[in-house]
Amino acid sequence: METTLLETETRTFGNTSLCYQCAKCSSGCPISEEMDMLPHQVIHLASLGLEQRVLSTETIWICANCYACAVKCPNDIDITGIMNDLKQKAIEQGIAPSRPEVYQFHKVFANDVLKRGKAYELWIMGEYNLRLRKPFKNVLLAPRMFLKNKLKLKPPRQVRGFRGWIHKLLLRKQRPHA
Ligand code: SF4
Ligand code: SF4
Repeated sequence: METTLLETETRTFGNTSLCYQCAKCSSGCPISEEMDMLPHQVIHLASLGLEQRVLSTETIWICANCYACAVKCPNDIDITGIMNDLKQKAIEQGIAPSRPEVYQFHKVFANDVLKRGKAYELWIMGEYNLRLRKPFKNVLLAPRMFLKNKLKLKPPRQVRGFRGWIHKLLLRKQRPHA
């Protein structure tokens, strides 16, 4: 019998059926306005086992892994982990987001985070714009972001132990039944 997404998440991340749709996760998400489906709706569909619906949403690619939703959840549901797992499933099934720029952003973001465990937003914005061949896209947002301390000139320091952690992860992935 096919394992439903609900059963998979129940094993991996805790019980998504505990979700009572309070939407605190969505209200805490800093980029929910960019999403085509809000985080609490993703969790709802996942809990119903509607795998194909949820794998085709752009939200799973836009999610920035910031954990703001997970810390707000009264039921300790690992929403960020679920987003990542769904993204992994989408990759395995060859499902890409409908807008190519969303996938481009995901690649630029993920590659940057892999360098030090933290995002360097200024670099991400620059590289993303170059890949899209729109060097001045959103450039007017930069001064406001600097003023709000959301954009820094210097890259952040590498997370302590990050290299070792990545090394272990890669070793684990190389083992067929890890
Ligand atoms: S915060 Fe938790 S319980 Fe509330 S909607 Fe989000 S996942 Fe469900
Ligand atoms: S981890 Fe993703 S879904 Fe959760 S608050 Fe951050 S961007 Fe939003």
